[in-house]
Amino acid sequence: MTTPPVCDYEGSDYQTSFWDQGGREYEDRTEAIALKRLLPKSGHLLLELGAGAGRNTPRYLGFDRIVLLDYSRTQLEQAQQRLGRSDKYIYVAADVYRLPFVDGLFDAATMIRTLHHMADAPKALGQVKNVLGPGGVFILEFANKLNLKAIFRYLFGRQKWSPFTPEPVEFVKLNFDFHPKAVKNWLKDFGFKIEKTLTLSHFRIGLLKRMIPTGILVFLDSVSQWTGALWQLSPSVFVRAKIQSGKHQEIPNSILLFFKCPDCGHSPLIEHKDYLECSSCQKKWGFKDGIFDFREPILSA
Ligand SMILES: [Zn+2]
Repeated sequence: MTTPPVCDYEGSDYQTSFWDQGGREYEDRTEAIALKRLLPKSGHLLLELGAGAGRNTPRYLGFDRIVLLDYSRTQLEQAQQRLGRSDKYIYVAADVYRLPFVDGLFDAATMIRTLHHMADAPKALGQVKNVLGPGGVFILEFANKLNLKAIFRYLFGRQKWSPFTPEPVEFVKLNFDFHPKAVKNWLKDFGFKIEKTLTLSHFRIGLLKRMIPTGILVFLDSVSQWTGALWQLSPSVFVRAKIQSGKHQEIPNSILLFFKCPDCGHSPLIEHKDYLECSSCQKKWGFKDGIFDFREPILSA
């Protein structure tokens, strides 16, 4: 299987170290505001790509059901502890380059702080397009290489890579920043229409965060977010894109019918007690403790 390398948060304490104790209240609150501005008020089935420990999931309240997808099973276990097991949340460990869902299933998808780890961003975006139905809304956040800090550093010779060129920059292994034009062109190539652009984290500067009360910074950022329609020079950008074409799929009553084999594309899969089986290629995909696992097939005993 030749898919790009995956950034794996397995066993990571990302939620605790980065969000809960990492001084990220400002970033978290500005994201909450952006999501409120971009999300449809209601919907049936939302796919959260790179859900991690479910930090943003409670913000998708207007949706009947949410599929939390992450490559890391341990992140999903943390999400499960936070949100509980119910019919509302479906937990899926899978590779974004090989999504295990039938075409046109979802009426919305979100990908927040996740494209950041994609070595092949267009490939991932193409997968998202396939699983959205006509009229489906996609809310995408990406890290912006064309941000003021990078521009100044480049102009003053303190950074080698140019923030002005369209190709992604991998500044740390499997951490990518993107040019806004490049991301928008990819989305357009897949048939998405970009409806709204917001810029975030204008004040992500350590000194400001220490000196100015968070509430004030959040307010200033919430006002500045609208400038995203005109220019994008902040480190984080949110877009809402809509897909017009595509295959319409009624949401099946059985969750089993959501899935296809990520290796050969066959559906439906056959349900067994602790795995789903593909009748076409005979691969078995695990289901354990409320988490579907489509990363690697389980080996027969
Ligand atoms: Zn198969």
